Amino acid sequence: MDFLENSVDSTGKRGSVEVITGSMFSGKTEELIRRLRRAQFAGLKVEIFKPSLDTRFSETRVVSHDDKSIVSTPVDNASAILLLTGDVSVVGIDEAQFFDNSIVDVCSRLADTGIRVIVAGLDMDFMGKPFGPMPALLAIAEFITKVHAICMRCGNLAQYSFRKSEEEQIVVLGEKDKYEPLCRTCYNQLIRNNLNNDEK
Ligand code: ZN
Repeated sequence: MDFLENSVDSTGKRGSVEVITGSMFSGKTEELIRRLRRAQFAGLKVEIFKPSLDTRFSETRVVSHDDKSIVSTPVDNASAILLLTGDVSVVGIDEAQFFDNSIVDVCSRLADTGIRVIVAGLDMDFMGKPFGPMPALLAIAEFITKVHAICMRCGNLAQYSFRKSEEEQIVVLGEKDKYEPLCRTCYNQLIRNNLNNDEK
């Protein structure tokens, strides 16, 4: 299954930034892990980081929903990635939306030194607004892959992460108990219904 991956320089000496983005349950982490595994198969040294606040499943692994995981290092902020990156060819970063904007500069600097940087993150928050540093990351990336979930109401491609719970803050960690992938039509319908209910 090669169609999601761009032809990157496999000699590992030319750095680049790749971003894998989409809604929740769209397979971002699975695609990140797949690319990192392939780099490992090619004999390249790989390192993976994720923000320490995302500890939904495990402290030290990037875990995807299908349970394929790769050991990762949780970091408190983006600059820690620069400090902790050793002599590697490929750096993976998961849940990039939770970092502040300095992650953009960090990715650029890693790529400038010849590292292939593969970043996965949510493109939009639960309100459908661009999430944190993701727009800027998409702007500086050489390659962008947008993956989709399946709408749980109609079966079309979903791009929204609809929050089923009442919490209002942007960052609420959760899985299918809290979020539901929806297409544009179903998302808009639900938002409209909720607004109507609030008015009653
Ligand atoms: Zn739908």
